[in-house]
Amino acid sequence: LFVRVLGSAAGGGFPQWNCGCANCSGLRAGRIAATARTQESVAVSADGDSWFLLNASPEIRQQIEGFAGLHPKSQRHTPIAGVILTSGDLDHCLGLLSLRESQSLVVYATERVRRGFAEDNGFYRTLERFPGQVTWRRLLLSEPLPLSDAKGQKSGLTLTPFSVPGKAPLHDSDRSDDPEHSVGLRIESEPGAVLAYLSGVAGPSSAVDALVRGADAVFFDGTFWASDELIALGIGTRSAEDMAHWRIGGAGGSLEYLRGLSARRRVFIHINNTNPMLRDDSAERKQVQAAGVEVGYDGMEFQL
Ligand SMILES: [Zn+2]
Ligand SMILES: [Zn+2]
Repeated sequence: LFVRVLGSAAGGGFPQWNCGCANCSGLRAGRIAATARTQESVAVSADGDSWFLLNASPEIRQQIEGFAGLHPKSQRHTPIAGVILTSGDLDHCLGLLSLRESQSLVVYATERVRRGFAEDNGFYRTLERFPGQVTWRRLLLSEPLPLSDAKGQKSGLTLTPFSVPGKAPLHDSDRSDDPEHSVGLRIESEPGAVLAYLSGVAGPSSAVDALVRGADAVFFDGTFWASDELIALGIGTRSAEDMAHWRIGGAGGSLEYLRGLSARRRVFIHINNTNPMLRDDSAERKQVQAAGVEVGYDGMEFQL
């Protein structure tokens, strides 16, 4: 199972266009030891030839160009066999609208996420220019599904989506209690490698436990270090929990949870630009490293 991080930041990226926090302004001025990050997306492949994208970020074009594995191999071609959406948040699916150049796409999503994106959305017509431009494949909670490309060619990967604690996206918040709004993914390759992908987790749950159990690698929600991160900086009024993100630091934080897992690779992803662990020399980064956990970065690659 080949894994390549295309983007590791939360919505807004790092730096964020309208943010002058110490991290964003420090990065722009070259005053801090930190690296820019695009918005969260990861590519996975069983053979290194055809790839599935976990989420489609607004920076998808730049992310594809930045990774040779996703470049076309003929006049009109893409190694992207499919896109899997973990939620309907715009930072996770807006990139789909950028893949509109008459290319057949396969998109895996829950029915809730599909409807939030494709219904009552005039822009979506750009992906309906010819019959079969987008093939939606429905994710059913807790049901394993073999991943295949537009022609039905099997990939050697099986995906099981689990509902995880989260929230509805702003544009689809009328049924906010729908368990299909936010899923974590368990991806297994035929030789038996397991990747757990949980880029948005509001807190502990039995589904989260089931997702990470026995996984070789775990990607985990790294949005906020502290509950009051935005409040303390004076740039927000809502806590991490209000925004459906499990804080990393402190007792009961997700770092403590990840420390107890046996996975070989435990990687934070979907990292907000305010998070102090983005600084290579911060005390928070040292805590993460001491726990055997990694801070994800764009271009990170490994094989399971
Ligand atoms: Zn997000
Ligand atoms: Zn910032």
